[in-house]
Amino acid sequence: MTQDNRPTVLVVDDERVNRAVLAELLADECRVILAKDGPSALQRTQEERVSLVLLDASMPGMDGYEVLRRLKADDRTAKIEVIFVTGQTDEQDEERGLLLGAVDYIAKPIRPALVRARVRNHLKLARQREELELLSLRDGLTGIANRRHFDMEFNRVCRHAVRSGDSLSLAMIDVDYFKQYNDRYGHGAGDMALARIAQALVATVQRPYDTAARYGGEEFVLLLPGVDEPAATLEQVRADVAALGIAHAGSDTAAVLTISCGGVVARAELAREPARLLRWADEALYQAKREGRNRTIVLKP
Ligand code: GH3
Ligand code: MG
Ligand code: MG
Repeated sequence: MTQDNRPTVLVVDDERVNRAVLAELLADECRVILAKDGPSALQRTQEERVSLVLLDASMPGMDGYEVLRRLKADDRTAKIEVIFVTGQTDEQDEERGLLLGAVDYIAKPIRPALVRARVRNHLKLARQREELELLSLRDGLTGIANRRHFDMEFNRVCRHAVRSGDSLSLAMIDVDYFKQYNDRYGHGAGDMALARIAQALVATVQRPYDTAARYGGEEFVLLLPGVDEPAATLEQVRADVAALGIAHAGSDTAAVLTISCGGVVARAELAREPARLLRWADEALYQAKREGRNRTIVLKP
């Protein structure tokens, strides 16, 4: 069987014939999966990456409004688009669905061409939104995560550390004598060097929950959830950047472009205050600079 890479649409209806009609109707547009009641619909959205739900409003047990409410209340499913499909043409029901966060409303008996067109439109919008969201999280110059992405991840990871009691390591990284590099080799070469350094960072920091991001200018951050001994990893990162061998005749610390790295290990308590954690990492970085650059300092406050 070949893999179906098309977006997934979940059709929820308690009547088998309605499910079959919609599935048949949409088969050319998307991958269709089915659920016959509210609870199994919610379960499918947890198991699969669903782009759009066609949701029957009236079902025995959990009705469509309740399914919608629960989808929107859960971070993991809140962004899934929902189109209500219902026999009740009452304006109030329509309004209720839209107020709960449905994007559209289709009345039964359905008109096939209309349903297909609406699904197509909403899938296109969903795809565009996903692409924009990805773009908005990436740094344009280096292609790695940007400051906005880091801020979101950092807050999420700190909250998780507080809940779980796991430790968490954070590192601020700054390129050494980078002003001189620009002055000597030009801003374009400086841009290229930043991109290569960024790639070296992401290549070393590869666990699924780790984040390497451009914090701004020639500064980067590494976020290592669950790590309480970051020194070896950070040293590796520092050595990898030096090993790129980007000549820097204007550096007072080496013949090549280097970074200084300031790490901090947060116990769960400190994770309650992300801003303080950042200040500790900054302090470690400042110390690495003061002690001669091209080195790693890790603090364990
Ligand atoms: P230190 O070792 O103390 O960090 O010295 P430094 O010269 O790296 O520090 P400073 O903060 O004085 O200079 C940072 C330089 O980084 C100045 C700025 O022009 C350069 N820079 C920041 N962002 C970019 C960028 O996107 N592209 C390029 N080419 N240069 C950048
Ligand atoms: Mg700097
Ligand atoms: Mg610098």
